[in-house]
Amino acid sequence: MHERLLRSKGLKLTPQRLMALKAIEEGGHIDIDQLHDSFNRLGMKIPLATLYRILGELSSVGILHTVTLSGQKTRYEIAKGDHPHFLCEQCGQLEDLHITMNKIASIAQQACIHTTHSVSIMLHGICQNCSAFPAIDKEGS
Ligand SMILES: [Zn+2]
Ligand SMILES: [Zn+2]
Repeated sequence: MHERLLRSKGLKLTPQRLMALKAIEEGGHIDIDQLHDSFNRLGMKIPLATLYRILGELSSVGILHTVTLSGQKTRYEIAKGDHPHFLCEQCGQLEDLHITMNKIASIAQQACIHTTHSVSIMLHGICQNCSAFPAIDKEGS
């Protein structure tokens, strides 16, 4: 699947590119450090600079989508169309929300005269996991 994706964009199949795609697919949304870790875990030594280059290439042909977060490292995900994200303020987990954004784009289009090309929405809050186990320094009272 990733092989076809790379070929369709005219990119050569390299073990590093395939490995990066696999790790990003498994991780959902991962930053460069997490990606570097997964290479290390598999014993694939790769300089960070090379990894940056690979991510840049994959993003520029539209295979990867970047999610920019203020004060945090950029996360990378396999591009799959516009979708909103939920960011947990406690654990930093980024989740896809399966809500169609076409409606938002058309409402926005009606509200302003600008031409909308893409919509990006980030919801901030506390994920289910973190609300079940809040980070409290002292247990009990
Ligand atoms: Zn959380
Ligand atoms: Zn996403």
